[in-house]
Amino acid sequence: MKGKKTSESYCLGIESTADDFGVGISTFNGKILANIISAYIPPEGGIHPREAARHHAKVGNKVLEEAFQKAGIKPRDLSIISFSQGPGLGPCLRTGATVARALASYLDIPLVGVNHCVAHIEIGKLKTGAEDPVTLYVSGGNTIVSAFDSGRYRVFGETLDVALGNCLDVFAREAGLHQRVGEPFGAVVEKLAANGKKLIHLPYTVKGMDMSFSGLLTAVINLLKKGEYKLEDLCYSLQETAFSMVTEVTERALAHTEKKEVLLTGGVAANKRLQLMIKAIAEEHDADFSVMPREFAVDNGAMIAWTGILAYKHGVVTPIEKSFVKLRWRLDEVEVPWVE
Ligand code: AMP
Ligand code: MG
Repeated sequence: MKGKKTSESYCLGIESTADDFGVGISTFNGKILANIISAYIPPEGGIHPREAARHHAKVGNKVLEEAFQKAGIKPRDLSIISFSQGPGLGPCLRTGATVARALASYLDIPLVGVNHCVAHIEIGKLKTGAEDPVTLYVSGGNTIVSAFDSGRYRVFGETLDVALGNCLDVFAREAGLHQRVGEPFGAVVEKLAANGKKLIHLPYTVKGMDMSFSGLLTAVINLLKKGEYKLEDLCYSLQETAFSMVTEVTERALAHTEKKEVLLTGGVAANKRLQLMIKAIAEEHDADFSVMPREFAVDNGAMIAWTGILAYKHGVVTPIEKSFVKLRWRLDEVEVPWVE
């Protein structure tokens, strides 16, 4: 294929850690030219890793084509390929990695493996202008409070069991709520919660700086099954309790690090009530508050493309033989030499 003559350099990033297959294309200067996401919605029940992976394999070609079309470039114009190497679900990660390896070998260009959690922070900084934030990253698979210190993004607090988004999703499923395209379970819970009035006492578990949502989830599901409370009140109480936990930990990280910015990202960042709570503690500590727009808050390929560029510019490349996926690759294991 003959590419358009261009002096710009581009990276294509592939995201496939869980239920979303995303392809993003970014210029080396951080202009996002395309960010196409195809979300897998299971017919019923939760995400089955192999079925999600099958979805990714099926839509892969179409999503790639759409991304090239949107960006107005050809595969030959690319300088590097990056992919989310972890953490995530094995079959899903492997599908994305396979596509990335095939593209990089075929085009004979460098491959860069990116940590998914680092990518959420980097796209957050790119899109909001935050320079050195305390980040609250809350999604279907992760709940992490982090901030940069001596070469790495350190984890100040995290969930000890299920992620905040997953907690909302499991509850919604138990309650028989329905998910439509573009309206995730968390958003359905948020709508119901807005009409809740009664705050029901539920387990609130913060241990040191870490959080546990499983006791809360079990308790609220038990109350749901008893049928004594209105669903709106249960949604409201679940949100208030869970969001207070992440807010407490974020505030303590802010007080400890004395950073002057707070960044809220991940799929759950779309929640207006959570935004208000985090904004309030940011203001109390004279810190700027930013929330990521949804397109870049959910799992997406643009964040992988951009982080691939940052890493590549600092000499990071991933030879094919070292491009195996890392299911439990922690945020704080990654050196980020591009951050001052
Ligand atoms: P991600 O894992 O980043 O792709 O985000 C997906 C998660 O975000 C799921 O757990 C959703 O239920 C959750 N989510 C999306 N919108 C909202 C919302 N408005 N309120 C709470 N959670 C949400
Ligand atoms: Mg997702």
